[in-house]
Amino acid sequence: MDRQAPVFVAGHRGMVGSAIVRALERAGHEHILTAPRASLDLLDQAAVRHWFEVNKPRYVFLAAARVGGIHANDTLPADFIYQNLVIETNVIEAAWRAGVERLLFLGSSCIYPRMATQPMSEEALLTGALEPTNEPYAVAKIAGVKLCESFNRQHGTDFRSVMPTNLYGPGDNFDLEGSHVIPALLRKFHEARCGNAPSVAVWGSGKPRREFLHVDDAAEACRFVMALGPATYRAHTTPMCSHLNVGCGTDVTIAELARTIGDVVGYEGEIRFDANKPDGAPRKLLDVSRLKAMGWQARIGLEEGLREVYEWYRASEGGR
Ligand code: GDP
Repeated sequence: MDRQAPVFVAGHRGMVGSAIVRALERAGHEHILTAPRASLDLLDQAAVRHWFEVNKPRYVFLAAARVGGIHANDTLPADFIYQNLVIETNVIEAAWRAGVERLLFLGSSCIYPRMATQPMSEEALLTGALEPTNEPYAVAKIAGVKLCESFNRQHGTDFRSVMPTNLYGPGDNFDLEGSHVIPALLRKFHEARCGNAPSVAVWGSGKPRREFLHVDDAAEACRFVMALGPATYRAHTTPMCSHLNVGCGTDVTIAELARTIGDVVGYEGEIRFDANKPDGAPRKLLDVSRLKAMGWQARIGLEEGLREVYEWYRASEGGR
């Protein structure tokens, strides 16, 4: 990627978008474009088209999305499918109109079938039924992958997709109703330790397995994939299976995760499992062999990453 060229990070206030901005800055990019929500509403097609005509980015990272954990997905399905479909449609079509040279769409490992063979390879897409708790979100993200592929096939664009596994990191959402499991448990264990609570409630059975990747690793992977020459990207993908998995290649049970978070936080009470809350997918381990073969690998171990995020949380408003 040309370091002087204008590069637009859509969703720069979010955990992933802000990590991509940091990764681009570290790599020496001098012309990073961002658009605060107050000045550009990505749900407004005319405004998005106008923004692209005026700002003419050469590269686009599409990290803007409506995201949330199992409870938010389960209770706000209309928001999750509608907002994600509209953001993707608006940004991808405007990027094509404005002649953007390369775009990277960020999806999610929940696009794969609930009972897909583990670890899940890119080819598992659209081979079976989805996990019901996040089906609307997954359908929107699958549409994003297919939008990129369809523009590539019809218009010759170079629009790429990555499917990151469950991400965590600084800037995550620590609201207990809307968050994913890592920020939720860091907060619950922290508050239990501070308040000397005898136990902490962990949702579900503790048996589901999840793969977790630090957002700084994910952002480096995004930059790596965007920097690949078109011939290299095409050599590792096909026109109708053009996405690349991004993960660390190992997973843990939620019970193991809870114990590790208890250690990181220094909580010595009991861990209880609340069977009234949903488990979601039994397992979501990505097959990351494609990206590995291209030369990329995660660097930040789970415990190291959790310690760093816990420090970040304690220094933030909510953790004090
Ligand atoms: P998912 O990967 O889409 O299921 O998203 P989550 O990160 O929200 O949940 C992952 C797993 O952690 C699910 O099995 C949840 O039931 C479990 N879990 C345990 N405790 C919590 C919690 O306090 N919050 C959330 N969001 N999930 C929890």
